[in-house]
Amino acid sequence: MFLCFDIGGTNIKSCLTNASGVCADKAVTPTPNSYTELMNVLTGIAENAEFEACAVAVPGTCAPKSGETIFAPNLPCINGKNIKNDLQNTTRKPVFIENDANLAALGEYYFVEKNNISSMVFLTIGTGLGGGAVLNGELLTSDISLFEAGHINIEPDGRPCGCGKKGCLEAYVNTSGILETYHMLSAHGHADNVNMVYSASKTGDKAAALTFEVFGGYLGIGMASLANILVPEKIKIGGGISEMSDAFLGHTLKVFAKNIYPAYRNRVSIELSTLKNSAGLKGCAALCLTQLSKN
Ligand SMILES: [Zn+2]
Repeated sequence: MFLCFDIGGTNIKSCLTNASGVCADKAVTPTPNSYTELMNVLTGIAENAEFEACAVAVPGTCAPKSGETIFAPNLPCINGKNIKNDLQNTTRKPVFIENDANLAALGEYYFVEKNNISSMVFLTIGTGLGGGAVLNGELLTSDISLFEAGHINIEPDGRPCGCGKKGCLEAYVNTSGILETYHMLSAHGHADNVNMVYSASKTGDKAAALTFEVFGGYLGIGMASLANILVPEKIKIGGGISEMSDAFLGHTLKVFAKNIYPAYRNRVSIELSTLKNSAGLKGCAALCLTQLSKN
């Protein structure tokens, strides 16, 4: 069994996963805002579990080999901290870490696509826009976690992004991006959440429908840019917003087809995620399996 932690800005999800990707003992705990308390949560769960190795998905950029978290804008208390070493010291078991979106990509690949394809890009669209890539059957990573797909620039001097830059894809393609676009297109109309915009788009609210078209267009441009560099066999879309795909995917596919490099056209297919919200935790198990097999 592998102990899997998916640390988010709001909640820590945990479970024990076997080598087939079946999860047991799933739990959700609010994320504390101090590092000491966060480590207490992780070690408390680990003390009551039997496992061979542990993997931690972190919400930011990390150094998978050394274990240090470098930049976690939504959870600053883990910046500069080493969850891998600290958890290894208390559990005496191998601990691996990786960026959360990279692990969602690895989970979707390892447990769904491994026998069909050898390259895939995965995008997670929710409160943020994360991404990961698998090339030649392996997660694309390095001394530092790679593939910040949400921070490719699509509008010079565009909207401010949570990372501190302007015009990032994530500033348009995530939940707050949708709300901001709706506010702009509906002559300062207000929606509390994306579900309201989605429902309005189904009941004749033209600004709401146009909001999803704009969203889908940015997503299509972003995916074409990624496809032009990596030419994956598939780009898969997960995260909460992917459940609203009937409102935007048609337009995304059109914009994608128009913007992909002509020689790569028809080589890259676009699909929705199969594992949905469990991709990250299953990715933790896939990380344990792939890392242990290397040793
Ligand atoms: Zn950014």
